[in-house]
Amino acid sequence: MEATQDKNTPLPQEQVKVLILGSGPAGLAAALYTARAQLQPVVLAGQEYGGQVSLTHTIENYPGFPDAVGGPELTELFRKQAEHFGAKTVFDTAVKVDLSQRPFKVTSYATEYLTDTLIIATGATPRHLQVPGETEFTGRGVSYCGTCDGFFFKDKDIVVVGGGDSAMEEGAFLTRFANNVTVIHRRDDFRAGELLLQRAKDNPKMKFITNTVVNKIEGNGTVQTVELENLQTGEKQPFTTDGVFIFIGHTPNTQLFEGQLEMEAGYLVANRYMETSVPGVFAAGEVADPHFRQVITSAGMGAAAGIQATRFLEANE
Ligand code: NAP
Repeated sequence: MEATQDKNTPLPQEQVKVLILGSGPAGLAAALYTARAQLQPVVLAGQEYGGQVSLTHTIENYPGFPDAVGGPELTELFRKQAEHFGAKTVFDTAVKVDLSQRPFKVTSYATEYLTDTLIIATGATPRHLQVPGETEFTGRGVSYCGTCDGFFFKDKDIVVVGGGDSAMEEGAFLTRFANNVTVIHRRDDFRAGELLLQRAKDNPKMKFITNTVVNKIEGNGTVQTVELENLQTGEKQPFTTDGVFIFIGHTPNTQLFEGQLEMEAGYLVANRYMETSVPGVFAAGEVADPHFRQVITSAGMGAAAGIQATRFLEANE
């Protein structure tokens, strides 16, 4: 739940050394490292506590959990471990950021934070098709992550939506489990690079339907059909499937930093030390990573950002 404040009452101020935006693996790993450095970091959990991980039913590829771990459970473990060393998680969201002054000023719904360093781990949001049935069947046949959910589609028929690298790569990955994978793309020209596209086309389990969109997703408890529309003929027909994997891009959550930090294709630009274009501001996880997008890589980036923020504070003391 968000904390709220009367518009006319000035927000209480809080001075911190490390403020972390986002409570996914990157944010909570950064919290763990800076907490262990005695910096008492504050984590603003954001709108989606735990980030995309918390929406993932089972995680089988995070090291240390041979019997898998639930997404929400892993988030709780991350948080507990960071809080054990002195991190504070606040269920609030940053609404305004001013990086032109030092300490940096970050305004949330309930508090105005003045912080010496800022670690941005606000993640990315998978783009949605925004068709009927999509929300209803998310987690019941509709997925945005092949690596996370492919295993649950053993010997099933799957539809993949999208024509980029993710659709090809994840589609090919899904053929490890599925009977067949049908890629539905809205054009007949693919955005995916030649190599991934050719590999997908050479895969005997993959089929392609082009110039076509998914209009709605239907089922009974779980997905059973999608309605396909051919954009050239206007013809609509039901298509039987057990799953719909949507890979139509991600939107990094960077709106707050527009005009203040360097970005590329909407993602924050960070160097190998997780440093952004403003000294003292670090970025970690999917907000700065369009390529790997895994719990382990985001947590690794968060740890690196935490170490680097600690060094920054030492150097500037
Ligand atoms: P992307 O390149 O933006 O492709 C998104 C695809 O979804 C496009 O084909 C687009 O169609 C389609 N699309 C977008 N909105 C749609 C809608 N509302 N309905 C139906 N289709 C829609 O996204 P991505 O594939 O996730 O790739 C993101 C970045 O990561 C890229 O730079 C990519 O190269 C990189 N990446 C690299 C690798 C790799 O190198 N191994 C793997 C994955 C991703 P249109 O083509 O018609 O616009």
